[in-house]
Amino acid sequence: MYGDSVLRAQTQPIADAKATFTVPGFEPVDRRALARNMLETMYEAEGVGLAAPQIGLPLRMFVAAEYDDDHADGQPKPLRARVLREFVFINPMLEVIDPTPESRYLDGCLSIPGVYEDGVMRPQAIRITYSDEHGARHQLEADDYFARVVQHEYDHLFGRLFLDLLPAAVTEKHRSYLVQLQREAKAYLKSLGKNRDQR
Ligand SMILES: [Zn+2]
Repeated sequence: MYGDSVLRAQTQPIADAKATFTVPGFEPVDRRALARNMLETMYEAEGVGLAAPQIGLPLRMFVAAEYDDDHADGQPKPLRARVLREFVFINPMLEVIDPTPESRYLDGCLSIPGVYEDGVMRPQAIRITYSDEHGARHQLEADDYFARVVQHEYDHLFGRLFLDLLPAAVTEKHRSYLVQLQREAKAYLKSLGKNRDQR
């Protein structure tokens, strides 16, 4: 959550395919299980993307999904039933292929729940080169909304939050809520410390 210093930490590449990762408060898992857990966490939270720092791991990794439109037949479908494609981006490198700035969509963040803002200018199209959780290399080009999602998550790997990309007055507008999130993040970290001692 906003206020946890891991969101601002320098992230490390995942170099060792056999490495295990320990999300604070959980058992160690390998790369594949971590990817699955991140996707499940994202679906659970009804998100379009989730970066490793958001679950307490300063790693160069994020997940994202493309969804089908909600109201095609009037009946809202559960999110899981609308997944068109899901992605695991490990050690990604992003290039801008169309720098035309656009700000048609709102940015929101699972680490700042409930806050949505427009006006975040992002390049219209990008190319991202990455490995998946099985170690296969991929290249993906994205534009429009999904390009925005990928850039938002990629920013997390550099400690950047979408509010950083907006005028300070926007952060100011949400100040008391952000302070509350900060307090909750600190309390959560403290509770993790206690659990560790009890084990
Ligand atoms: Zn975010």
